[in-house]
Amino acid sequence: MSNLVHRIADLIGLRDRDELDVALTRLTWELLGPGAKSVAILRPVGEEGDMRWSTRIRFSTDQVIPALNPVQEAVGNLPKLADYPHHQATIRGGHVCRHHGERALTLFPLSAEHEGLGVFEVETEVPLLPEAENTLASILRIYHNFQGLLDYGERDTLTNLLNRKTFDGAFLKTTLGANARETLDMPDRRESPGFSSHWLGVIDIDHFKRVNDSFGHLIGDEVLILMARLMRSSFRCQDSIYRFGGEEFAVLVQCEGEFDARAAFERFRQNAEQHSFPQVGHITVSTGFTALRPDDTPSEAFERADKAVYHAKGNGRNQVCNHADLVATGEVVETDNPNTEAEFF
Ligand code: GH3
Ligand code: MG
Ligand code: MG
Repeated sequence: MSNLVHRIADLIGLRDRDELDVALTRLTWELLGPGAKSVAILRPVGEEGDMRWSTRIRFSTDQVIPALNPVQEAVGNLPKLADYPHHQATIRGGHVCRHHGERALTLFPLSAEHEGLGVFEVETEVPLLPEAENTLASILRIYHNFQGLLDYGERDTLTNLLNRKTFDGAFLKTTLGANARETLDMPDRRESPGFSSHWLGVIDIDHFKRVNDSFGHLIGDEVLILMARLMRSSFRCQDSIYRFGGEEFAVLVQCEGEFDARAAFERFRQNAEQHSFPQVGHITVSTGFTALRPDDTPSEAFERADKAVYHAKGNGRNQVCNHADLVATGEVVETDNPNTEAEFF
C-alpha cells in the first residue's frame, strides 16, 4: 500500500506527458505481476471518417521495453477503429469494458483535454478481480485529474488552445525525436512511402483590428474562440495548435509531404472563409508555413513561417504561402540560416 502511494507520488511529480504515460503503464504492469500479459495506452489518430489506433506505449511479455510511438508510422498503416470493436465501445460508452475471450481484456476509457480520448488496455491471463479493477480505476482517476492540472498550465484561457509557453518544448521534442529516428532507425526513411515530415504554420487573422473597432472587444474575443474551434475541427487531433498571442496562431503538423501540409492549411483557410461569424460575418486568415529542418530552433522556424505570412498579407491576404516557394521565386530572401530549405523530416 505505502509502496503504491510512493509510486503515485512519483507519477504526479512528472511534468512530461510521455513520461507520465510510461510511468502509468509501468506502474500497472508491475502491480499486476506475473498474471499480466500486456498493458498499453491506445489513442485514436487520423482524419475524421478514417480514424486509426495508435499505440502510445505498451508493456508486454514479449516487449518489455516501453515503445512510445508518437505517430511515427504513416497513419494509413495503423489499424482502423473498427478493427478493435471493444476498444471502440470503451470510448463510445465512456465506461470500462471487459472482454473474456481467449485472453482477458479490461479496457478503461481515458479522456483528457490535451490528449483527447484513449483506451488504457490491460490484458491478463485470467479476468481481473474486482478489487484490482477498482485500484486501477482509482489510479486512472488520479492520472486524469493530474492531466487536467497540466492542461491548466499549458492552455490559453480564452481559446483553450495550447499557449506559447509550451511551444518551444513541444517543438524541440519534435525535432529531437525526428533527428533521433533519422540517425538511429532508418537513414533512408525519407525515401520510403508514408514517411512523415513536420511542418510549422503561422496563421494570422486578417484585419482583426477592424472587428474590434466595429463590433467591440467582446465580439472580437468571441471570434477568437470560434476561430480556435474551427482550427480544432480543421486540423487532425495529433496536430498541435497554439495561440501565440492576439490573433496569431501556430500549428505543428505532421504529414507525408509538402502537398499534404499545404492541403491541411488550405482546408483551414477555406473553412474560416466560409464560416459566418455571428454579427461579424465573414473573416479570412493568412497563413505561412515551412518544413522543419534538422537543428532548427523554434524561433528560426517561426521566423520563416512568419515571413511567409508577411508576404501573404502584402499580396491580398486570405492565402497560404510556403516559405520555400517564396525563396525559390526570389520573393523572400533567405537570411541567416545556412540550412537548405529541403524537407528533412
Ligand atoms: P492584418 O490583416 O494585417 O493582420 O491586420 P490586423 O488588424 O489583424 O492586425 P493588427 O496587428 O493591426 O491588429 C491586431 C488586433 O488584434 C489589435 C488588437 O486590438 C487585437 N487583439 C489582440 N489580442 C486580442 C484579444 O485577446 N481580444 C481581442 N478582442 N482583440 C485582440
Ligand atoms: Mg491580423
Ligand atoms: Mg497579428
